[in-house]
Amino acid sequence: MTITGATRVVGVIGSPVRHSLSPAIHNAAFAAAGLDWLMVAFEVVPGAAPAALAGMRAFGIAGLAVTMPHKDAIAATVDTLDPAAAALGAVNTVVMQPDGRLAGYSTDGAGFLASLRDAGVDPAGLKVAVLGAGGAARSVIDSLARSGVGRIAVVNRSADRAEVAAALAGDIGVVGGSSDIAAADLVINATSIGMGTHDAPCDLALLHPQQIVADLVYHPLETALLAAGRAVGARVVDGLGMLVHQAAIQQFLWTGIRPDAHAMRTAAEHELAARGVGSNGRRGSLPSSSDPRADPG
Ligand code: NDP
Repeated sequence: MTITGATRVVGVIGSPVRHSLSPAIHNAAFAAAGLDWLMVAFEVVPGAAPAALAGMRAFGIAGLAVTMPHKDAIAATVDTLDPAAAALGAVNTVVMQPDGRLAGYSTDGAGFLASLRDAGVDPAGLKVAVLGAGGAARSVIDSLARSGVGRIAVVNRSADRAEVAAALAGDIGVVGGSSDIAAADLVINATSIGMGTHDAPCDLALLHPQQIVADLVYHPLETALLAAGRAVGARVVDGLGMLVHQAAIQQFLWTGIRPDAHAMRTAAEHELAARGVGSNGRRGSLPSSSDPRADPG
């Protein structure tokens, strides 16, 4: 593309941010749509989120993707919050509105639901086991609860965080254990276990063919959990779908144009392959300390 004075700019802010997949994903979709838009990554040190928003206004930046450690601080600073961002107290997307107000959104949970739809899964009425209770787990729990699932059991190492996460689902949320994993229609790994390793986030013998098994971890794409799910004949959903769809929602919020999710996924796969992160679990040159928090999920 040719960058001109008319090029619209969006950013991804985080710390660290240089390994974020967001520029590759978004710029691929801008190019596929022939849009004169560009995403760049901005390293914003912890504590500087309000200054980043002031800079966004000053530079006329059209939108931001927000990643660690700024999601909570941005939620506390923008002018409006969508229901998911308000429930979570976390924002992963900022949109500069025509009147100059900054609108905050959380697109992770909706991105996860879209990845389920891609796999032909309707979550309504399902019994769900969510492994993990961190930011990603809470996004998924909030969206699943809004989409009519029957029950959500949160299985987490730290019981206090499990309780907070389960409460997001109201009456259908409980703190669970192994029996809830075995009884679930849909098992979701939202812990960071399996990221760059062959570790599994639960006892794999609990999986069975009637289940849908989803992993939010996307490097490797085929985690130990997904491989075990596939081996027993369960339907599996990888984590790249969520990453791509939450980005597609972001881009729609910024541009008003539905992006080409296929182009986004292809760009993400190429970028991961270039970094040596394949389906075999090897992480190549990707530093373990930087990548999981460098995407706006
Ligand atoms: P957080 O740090 O907020 O949460 C991490 C979770 O993993 C916690 O529940 C934590 O348990 C659990 N955990 C970590 N290590 C262990 C361990 N050794 N044993 C047991 N439990 C453990 O991270 P996020 O929620 O932001 O991210 C979680 C994962 O989801 C990451 O791998 C991230 O890359 C991925 N992700 C994927 C997205 C996508 O679009 N596909 C989007 C966002 C995240 P405890 O509470 O006890 O500490």
